Amino acid sequence: WAKSAGKADYALFDEDRNAREVHRYALAQALPAALETGEMFLDYQPIVSLAGGRPPLVEALVRWRHPERGLLRPAEFIPVAEETGAIVELGRWVLERAVRDAAAWPQGPAVAVNVAVRQVRDTGLVHDVAAALAASGLPPERLCLEITETALMDAEDDRLPGPGTLRALAARGIGIAVDDFGTGYSNLARLRHLPATALKIDASFVADLGDPEGDRFAESVITSLVALAHASGMTVTAEGVENAAQARRLAALGVDYAQGFHYSPPVPAEEIPAVLERLAVATGSPGDSGLG
Ligand code: C2E
Ligand code: MG
Ligand code: MG
Ligand code: MG
Repeated sequence: WAKSAGKADYALFDEDRNAREVHRYALAQALPAALETGEMFLDYQPIVSLAGGRPPLVEALVRWRHPERGLLRPAEFIPVAEETGAIVELGRWVLERAVRDAAAWPQGPAVAVNVAVRQVRDTGLVHDVAAALAASGLPPERLCLEITETALMDAEDDRLPGPGTLRALAARGIGIAVDDFGTGYSNLARLRHLPATALKIDASFVADLGDPEGDRFAESVITSLVALAHASGMTVTAEGVENAAQARRLAALGVDYAQGFHYSPPVPAEEIPAVLERLAVATGSPGDSGLG
């Protein structure tokens, strides 16, 4: 009995998996058209300076208002777009829109744009970035590209065009941030040789602060990463900061920037000037939220 039930379960599981694959494939196919019809949009989340005095930064996060499936988060369509290559076109759209929005905000924040490894390997990225900056008038110093730790290590494979691409971008004054740091399996010694200007500590370490089980380990990781990043000339941002206690701990540990619901959730472009205003007014210094 157990055996046959197991078999039935397995068939069900297979069917499920099939349905999910069909679903993913349909999304990937619909993606290029969605760029045309205006179903894609960007929300922006501020990244605030914990020490104060540094200019504000805002991260662009893509969303898809799907006519049948409702609001889709990036986790639902970015991975499949990477598989099919649609990410290159989507990435170009995100870049153009983000630098155009950033150029229009009165506080003049820098804008951080997430890029996939496939975009970094696409030899057109340097050209696309230059074209987007030229069209918007945004200076290169106000653009930062975020690439996940795992993707960056892949892109740094010497047999691929990746490293040249990132170095060329960094040489133009564009920031390069290592995203979700601590979730991959980097050789820490390699960090020093990457053309990165910023390290973003993954939200999981921030979440462990104050947790009786995880606190000591999270604190040691954060302390080490701050030392390592600063010794390599990089700034450090903590992701997923949700309360004042975390913000205070992070500031005390030497973290430079913080991002999370404690300051602001991701909001539409039109709301960014007011959100930056509120965060600046809280302390009288732009970028320092005073909420920490
Ligand atoms: P990420 O770059 O690490 O972005 C941070 C994610 O954390 C965002 O999720 C954001 O909404 C969420 N977040 C912000 N503050 C908090 C907080 O206090 N607590 C918690 N629990 N979460 C918080 P989102 O928007 O769903 O994006 C997920 C990921 O999708 C991003 O992670 C990024 O890797 C990717 N992504 C987003 N937009 C793009 C894009 O335009 N291109 C590419 N290639 N990837 C993108
Ligand atoms: Mg990011
Ligand atoms: Mg991240
Ligand atoms: Mg993340």
